[in-house]
Amino acid sequence: MLVVMQSHATDAQIRAVCERIESLGYKAHPIPGAGRTAIGITGNTGVVDIASMEGMPGVVECIPVSKPYKLVSRDVKEENTVVRIKTPLGDVTFGGPAIGVVAGPCAIETAEQAFEIAGHIKAAGIRLFRGGAYKPRTSPYSFQGLGEPGLKILAEIRERFGLGIVTEAVDNESLDLVEKYADVIQIGTRNMQNFSLLKHAGRAAKPILLKRGMSATLDEFLMAAEYIMSEGNYNVILCERGVRTFSDFTRNTLDLSVIPAVQRRSHLPIVVDPSHGTGRRNKVLPLSRAAVAAGADGMLVEVHHDPDHALSDGPQSILPEEFVQLVGEIRQIAAVLHRTIN
Ligand code: PEP
Ligand code: MN
Repeated sequence: MLVVMQSHATDAQIRAVCERIESLGYKAHPIPGAGRTAIGITGNTGVVDIASMEGMPGVVECIPVSKPYKLVSRDVKEENTVVRIKTPLGDVTFGGPAIGVVAGPCAIETAEQAFEIAGHIKAAGIRLFRGGAYKPRTSPYSFQGLGEPGLKILAEIRERFGLGIVTEAVDNESLDLVEKYADVIQIGTRNMQNFSLLKHAGRAAKPILLKRGMSATLDEFLMAAEYIMSEGNYNVILCERGVRTFSDFTRNTLDLSVIPAVQRRSHLPIVVDPSHGTGRRNKVLPLSRAAVAAGADGMLVEVHHDPDHALSDGPQSILPEEFVQLVGEIRQIAAVLHRTIN
């Protein structure tokens, strides 16, 4: 259920409707739009008593939301959500005319490795650095990440280079700690349906980058975002990172067709990760060009100065000079679409 307020509704009128919703035992989510505020109602298992709300001052109408996802839906908010990340070098946005770029190694391995790569990312004009301190690995014998010492290296990267930090929380135990260090908390593909982690992320004060599960349908992907938003965190960035198919020449099949599908159904930004999406270094540049052409709101790219010796995802990590070329090319493609890179 959605309560649509008049464009000139006052804060007090909006508050009164929220209070009425909460008094009925539901949760109210006021979502300001460009023209008017809509108030999403969650927590209802059946039909909400509309009559008590429709007559309230400032209310235009109450409309049932037929889709399983509500807060994620464009029905609730017509215009794009712009997620804004503050970095010491300036803001980076996702969902607006500018396309956000995040780059860095798969994992933080050592301070030297991370600083070296951070220098290249900054030199390429990019302001968001990625790197895992906690790594969800298929084998328990593979490098699992440095843990908190890795987060401390990331904090030093923000300090020294002025870059914002995107890093993954793999479980409820690590999330609070990751929240302290990160500017954006990543939830990985293997955790897309870890509902307790999603709810926990929904209570975090930092934006969430939510990766699509490797076998998730679009509805499942959007419902995972709904879990986060239903807890009150509306800063969610969706990420397509490839799905499992029968195709055997790549690690995953990058589903670029999900971009317009998401944009039709949801107001949330959608970014593309061509590194995990292909698993092959030589495919990252062409798929990055294609992602921007298809309307992606951002890119997430793995970069390593010595990928042959990387502790994880070396084969899909591009070299710093290749990253410079990538940024240059997507900038030109973005310009055709009247967009910029930030
Ligand atoms: C990563 O970004 O390094 C990662 C582990 O991603 P995914 O969850 O998409 O595999
Ligand atoms: Mn990786």
